[in-house]
Amino acid sequence: MSLRIALITGASRGIGAAIARRLAKDGFDVAINDLPTQTPALESLREEIVSQGRRAYIHTTDVAEASEVKNMVDSTLKTLGGLDVMVANAGIGSLLTPLTECSEDAWDKVMRINARGVFLCYKYAAQAMIAQGRGGRLIGASSLAGKQGSGYSSIYCASKFAVRGLTQSAAQELAKHGITVNAYAPGIIDTTIFDAFSPEEGVGADVLNELVKKTPVGRLGKPHEIASLVSYLASQESAFMTGQTISINGGLFFD
Ligand code: NAP
Repeated sequence: MSLRIALITGASRGIGAAIARRLAKDGFDVAINDLPTQTPALESLREEIVSQGRRAYIHTTDVAEASEVKNMVDSTLKTLGGLDVMVANAGIGSLLTPLTECSEDAWDKVMRINARGVFLCYKYAAQAMIAQGRGGRLIGASSLAGKQGSGYSSIYCASKFAVRGLTQSAAQELAKHGITVNAYAPGIIDTTIFDAFSPEEGVGADVLNELVKKTPVGRLGKPHEIASLVSYLASQESAFMTGQTISINGGLFFD
């Protein structure tokens, strides 16, 4: 099996952009996705990757819309000639809120992107990979919050636990097609996602600082450190690993 074409969602910045850069460096041609509002950042990432000799195509698509995800996969098959690795990375944070005050709208919004989005990416990529008949890799974004619940974060935690369940179940079904399914579970990584956890200036930073203090390695993780794990999961060498959600969190939680 030769793995050479990857699609990465939520790739305009943060962990997704780092994964796209790393997989391109590893020799993959890449399809990079984000919402239409992120087109300028995607354009600049595309130019960077193309200048390094790889092919790169942009898909401005909402990962929670089934028809858009299906079109994105179909279009990747046409433009890049196949699909070997799907990295369902796109996700959003949610406000720190007591359960008793969580709105149904907040539940729907976070679950729509973090859980339904990963489900759709796995589903349509798996259909394409099975039809191709050359195996593949499905890789999803879970979280430390998908391993351990925490107060005031019920909705986000539920969405990331969902990714683990989906990953384990899909792994059992798809192994016979040579498709492995794994997820990454980052701790506290230096991206802008934490801006969503608090509307008040500085409060999000306070929460972050507290978490960093509790992290044995004593710092935030870097997006490229998550990309390095994804590089392994996307490689031929990881063929015997499937159904796993791998913690990468500076020792903040052991499982
Ligand atoms: P980020 O910097 O906020 O990047 C996420 C990207 O996904 C953004 O560009 C965002 O665009 C995009 N996106 C949001 N909704 C989308 C949709 N419906 N369709 C397509 N793209 C969409 O986040 P990150 O920190 O890199 O996190 C990447 C993934 O890792 C997420 O799933 C996150 O939950 C997970 N994670 C992150 C951490 C961490 O500490 N950073 C820890 C654990 C897990 P907009 O800005 O336009 O919404």
